[in-house]
Amino acid sequence: MASTNAKNSTQPFSSKQQDTHGISDSTFHEENNQMVIAIAERTKVREEQYSEGGFFRANPGHLINDYELLKYLSRGGYGTVWLAKRTQTDIYSAMKISKSSIGYEEYSKREIEILKKIQTPTSHPNIVKLLDSFYMEGDNVKHMVMVFEVLGPTLESVIFSSGQKIHLEVVKSITRQLLEAINYIHNLNLVHMDIKPANVMLAINENDIKHLASNQDLTCNRYSIDVTNPNAIIVAKLADFGLAFYTDEKLPSHPTSSCFFRAPEQFLTTKYDTALDMWSFGCLIHEMIAASNLFACKKYRSVPNHNSCHFMLMDHLFGPIKRADFQDGLRREFSQQFDRDGHMVVPYLNEFLPNFYKTAVHNGMKEEEAEEYSNFLHLFFKYNRAERITAGEALQHAFLLPNRVKRLDKNGQEETAAVPVLDLKNPETNNEEEFDRVFQFHNADKN
Ligand SMILES: [Zn+2]
Repeated sequence: MASTNAKNSTQPFSSKQQDTHGISDSTFHEENNQMVIAIAERTKVREEQYSEGGFFRANPGHLINDYELLKYLSRGGYGTVWLAKRTQTDIYSAMKISKSSIGYEEYSKREIEILKKIQTPTSHPNIVKLLDSFYMEGDNVKHMVMVFEVLGPTLESVIFSSGQKIHLEVVKSITRQLLEAINYIHNLNLVHMDIKPANVMLAINENDIKHLASNQDLTCNRYSIDVTNPNAIIVAKLADFGLAFYTDEKLPSHPTSSCFFRAPEQFLTTKYDTALDMWSFGCLIHEMIAASNLFACKKYRSVPNHNSCHFMLMDHLFGPIKRADFQDGLRREFSQQFDRDGHMVVPYLNEFLPNFYKTAVHNGMKEEEAEEYSNFLHLFFKYNRAERITAGEALQHAFLLPNRVKRLDKNGQEETAAVPVLDLKNPETNNEEEFDRVFQFHNADKN
């Protein structure tokens, strides 16, 4: 990987940590052109969390089937993640061991079922790869085990804890890659439902994996990833399909995705579709550019009626919330919240909220590009699901052209390169070569 320009490592807003959800205990350091991510206190398991229905207790060296646990990596609400290695081989993997309570078993079984389905006949290069799955007995309870390829830091930790400011070209590359993944699952009528930077991971190379395995420092992990470098090849992968559902399935009864990224129809109605992911993805793009959350949910966390404050922020950012856009499946508890003009009544807010254009200029975009970015991003926040941009449409947007390069045609005239999109209607193109073709195109202007 190309070396970092030392100046890039201290960008002005790299230390912004306001309103980041739950990672304020992470700190960052950077040295030797490496990305150093502190292991947050919240990722450690407390003794009481091993109790009934809880986490699986293990130590390095523990054998599970023919996998040896090497190192504890992290935990989420669902279970713990370990770096593991197949005995007799040099193949490393990330092992996710679910909590033993029945709810988590169901959650994992569902994720396995979905991942197996979308990995057939081939896996998508921007979706985390499931390698193996099985039940494991422990202390008279069962844990579900999912074995994944080893990946590096989450996009959330890169944005808020790495000290590296993501270069605009890298933002565009990550955006394109994730849109390819979203386009792929949406073409299968699958809604991810929980798109957020914490569920996006960056790929790491063999050396980083070996270093991760041998690193005895329990305070931080180091990766040779440099998101400040416009020429760096960064591979992003969408992970955590535990809440995903097919559009023809019975819907989850209650919104369970993270409030920061939740689409308005998830609050207001019982009718969701793939458009839901696009709202969340718009919030994710803003976080990569601004290094702060679009919706200040944390600030209003302790307010008794958080929803009302969330609607106030939406109204202030994107205009009045109209009943007409949410008529289909409107939840009864919200039916009285609209005035005679059909606009939702929200508390008054005397505060400036993020403005996409100004944020873009503040972060180094030229006026014309900032305008294009602002227009692009607003398309993700249409209240009406039918008007919201789709992943396929977003991939064609001028803002995402690499380096804004205008290619010369054979007469020497400038022509804008069309970004290829995966043709998933044609089964013959649904293979690794097609993914490679698109992936290579997206990275072609970096060399
Ligand atoms: Zn909220």
